[in-house]
Amino acid sequence: MAERKVRVRFAPSPTGALHIGGVRTALYNYLFAKKHGGDLLLRIEDTDSQRFVPGAEEYIIESFNWLGIKFDEGVGIGGDHAPYRQSERKDIYKKYVDQLLADGLAYIAFDTPEELEAKRAAIPNFQYDARTRMQGVNSLTLSAEEVQKRIDNGDKYVVRIKIEPNEDVEVHDLIRGKVVINSNILDDKVLYKAADQLPTYHLANIVDDHLMEISHVIRGEEWLPSAPLHVLLYRYLGWADTMPQFAHLPLLLKPEGNGKLSKRDGDRLGFPVFPLQWKDPKTGDVSSGYRESGYLPEAVVNFLALLGWNPGIDREIFSMQELIDLFSLDRVSKSGARFDYEKGKWFNHEYMINKSDEEVAEMFMPTLKEKGIECPFDTVKYIVSLVKSRINFANELWDQTSFFFEAPTAYDEKSVKKRWKENSPEMMRQLIEVLKGIDDFSAENAEKVVMDWIAKNEYNTGLVMNSFRLTVVGEAKGPHMFDITAIIGKDETIARVERALEALK
Ligand code: GLU
Repeated sequence: MAERKVRVRFAPSPTGALHIGGVRTALYNYLFAKKHGGDLLLRIEDTDSQRFVPGAEEYIIESFNWLGIKFDEGVGIGGDHAPYRQSERKDIYKKYVDQLLADGLAYIAFDTPEELEAKRAAIPNFQYDARTRMQGVNSLTLSAEEVQKRIDNGDKYVVRIKIEPNEDVEVHDLIRGKVVINSNILDDKVLYKAADQLPTYHLANIVDDHLMEISHVIRGEEWLPSAPLHVLLYRYLGWADTMPQFAHLPLLLKPEGNGKLSKRDGDRLGFPVFPLQWKDPKTGDVSSGYRESGYLPEAVVNFLALLGWNPGIDREIFSMQELIDLFSLDRVSKSGARFDYEKGKWFNHEYMINKSDEEVAEMFMPTLKEKGIECPFDTVKYIVSLVKSRINFANELWDQTSFFFEAPTAYDEKSVKKRWKENSPEMMRQLIEVLKGIDDFSAENAEKVVMDWIAKNEYNTGLVMNSFRLTVVGEAKGPHMFDITAIIGKDETIARVERALEALK
């Protein structure tokens, strides 16, 4: 068979916020497409009107914009195969439903929900299949006239695929190898519902993958059980020759490693499972997002890329382009990937320290503005350079630097107990005099003068500096003391020591 152009798709159903596992699926599709010079499509699978959630589609598109995952075709972009929203493709699917019916590969079934419920209650493990279909109310058991009469009468019906029993169906999966399933365990799945004139997921998915010339279906492991049915559908529709290749990605597991990662794990352990914050339009519940939690999109991409795939290189930081160059499906693991969210923080830290001071300062400016603090950009740049290595997220900057902009209003009790000793007040009084005498208040010079004074008086450096820090910062934290004093300046430094002497009497 001639090499096909690589065309892959991400095909979410707009049923709510996009789970982080779905983001990883889209990312792998993107990396695969770009690696092979192919196309990535965004198709919205909204045939289940019961589960449609307003805003979900917009949320999905915004998420990928933020992450830098770009689609070549699809909803919001357009392309040769438009429309890309399945609810707008109704007429297309009907034709294939009719074809399957005409070929005797599908049949019409009228069984009401109550009738099916009764069967389930009466027959253990009931499923609609070769063994039971002849007891159903369907076009295989009713006469053609009766079927027509019911349809004309407006009776609700569905179209079911007719699965032949006892056949080994092979799925060739690029990650899992050959998976064989006996058709006896498959049921005659509903492909179409007359009530809303819409196909179900299975039919719409296969028809669209075919018409959109999809070469590879890369999706989550939860879809593996559907794959044998999909293989049969390709055959029934006469498209076996151009069937896409399958690749089912391993599950994302709970941080503890057992069981599938769920939203509840995020709530329980305090990490987001959605790319962006999401407000449920029905309940109003707000779920946190990676973006709003201060993650950098590059860090999220890097983190997710390595959850279930390994580049075969002993390194962990990769740009998007490097990921594209290295990506291959045969390095995707078969077993589930533990969602180590602490590792996610580490990635963000790594990306933060590699940002320029200018970029980090830009991230910090909105916070400063919000607090009503005016400070020259160059100073902010310098301040962030002092603390950058200590943070994982930009939203920790204020906590790490507030004392540069505002004098402490309180003194941390624990630090006071530990660091404010009997002779601290006297030493601080002397220090004020020393500071007053310094003309060049640069970090180097101030440090030299203060250290000389400490040495001359044979004071304990640790004790002096701890007390000094407490007066200026309010607690035992922050970068080098003289970097702080150089920025806030002589007058402010002295004023803070004086104020602390008052307050800590
Ligand atoms: N609409 C399905 C989903 O929500 C698509 C599954 C597939 O990729 O075939 O994930």
